[in-house]
Amino acid sequence: MAVKVTLNPEPVAEAEREKLLEAPVFGTVFTDHMVTAVWTRAGGWEQPELGPRRPFAIQPENAVFHYGQQLFEGMKAYRGVDGALRLFRPDQNAARMNRSALRMAMPQVPEELFRESVEALVRADKNWIPGQGSLYLRPFMFADESFLGVRPADRCIFCVIAAPAGDYFKSGAAGLSVWVEQETTRAAPGGTGEAKCGGNYAGSLHAQTRAYEEGCAQVLFLSADGSGQIEELGGMNIFFVKKDGSVFTPALGTILPGITRASILALLRAEGTPVSEISYHFDELKADVAAGEIAEVFVCGTAAIIASVSRLKFDGGALEIGEPGPLAARLRATLSGIYTGAVEGPQGWSVTVSE
Ligand SMILES: *Cc1c(COP(=O)(O)O)cnc(C)c1O
Repeated sequence: MAVKVTLNPEPVAEAEREKLLEAPVFGTVFTDHMVTAVWTRAGGWEQPELGPRRPFAIQPENAVFHYGQQLFEGMKAYRGVDGALRLFRPDQNAARMNRSALRMAMPQVPEELFRESVEALVRADKNWIPGQGSLYLRPFMFADESFLGVRPADRCIFCVIAAPAGDYFKSGAAGLSVWVEQETTRAAPGGTGEAKCGGNYAGSLHAQTRAYEEGCAQVLFLSADGSGQIEELGGMNIFFVKKDGSVFTPALGTILPGITRASILALLRAEGTPVSEISYHFDELKADVAAGEIAEVFVCGTAAIIASVSRLKFDGGALEIGEPGPLAARLRATLSGIYTGAVEGPQGWSVTVSE
């Protein structure tokens, strides 16, 4: 399944690209190329093609517009300290994409097709990696069939695009204010919370709007059963650090199984830090903060890596966590080091892309 490569004959001029790379706002600048692969139920996967980034020609009745059969991944490529191009645990993204695909009744993407598509794009757009940043890669798949019936589409498109990335939050790693949403939820048992699909995000935007009104950058969602169990943010997982140094995070189930989350758990376990995956209620958090038990709260995901939470605001009050803490800073440095090859991570985490 080698990728057919047709380089863009009219790439963005070097001077303009350099200017765009000075301080790219996350998700606003895109590279010269994209990779696409078409799947049909009758014929399976066609050869993936890398070509100039361009619009799709899609009929208004396309299934994806109406019933949202769609999913995506998020990962980053780095230019390492040794000059090599690196991906972080791409096998985990491929595996998660296929778990999402199963849930969304979409075709499995062979790991080789996934890997070769991503690597071909990184190679073609390697000049788009900012000096101090990374190339955010967005593999995604959507139903591409003209029909208004409710059934899994017989034709899908897998695509990878790339966007140069600096710091995700304008404030960098400074403390975030997070809105604790007690009105809407993002995921129910048996629902699609575990799948990385656009619908989960669509459902989170109402709360996100409220969060902005409240001066918060992000939303923390609670469980759909009304018990107030802490789940995760709209697009990031959350960790708590107690004064005694123990660390915990909500257990998997309805939350999105973040690769950053899993990597943090593995790093902490390897160094012997007591860490657990538990069910933790908002009421317990309030009590723990009041008792001075919570030393740090931080959130994590590929886009932002790790960001400290300084304040949790909710209807009727706020919990002050305080300045960004040392564990978040240390983990951020370790992960960033592994991404660029400056720190040796566990076997297989850092994958070099040949140029
Ligand atoms: C992507 C995502 C995360 C973070 O996953 P990473 O693999 O660490 O980037 C967390 N929560 C949600 C809802 C997500 O979509």
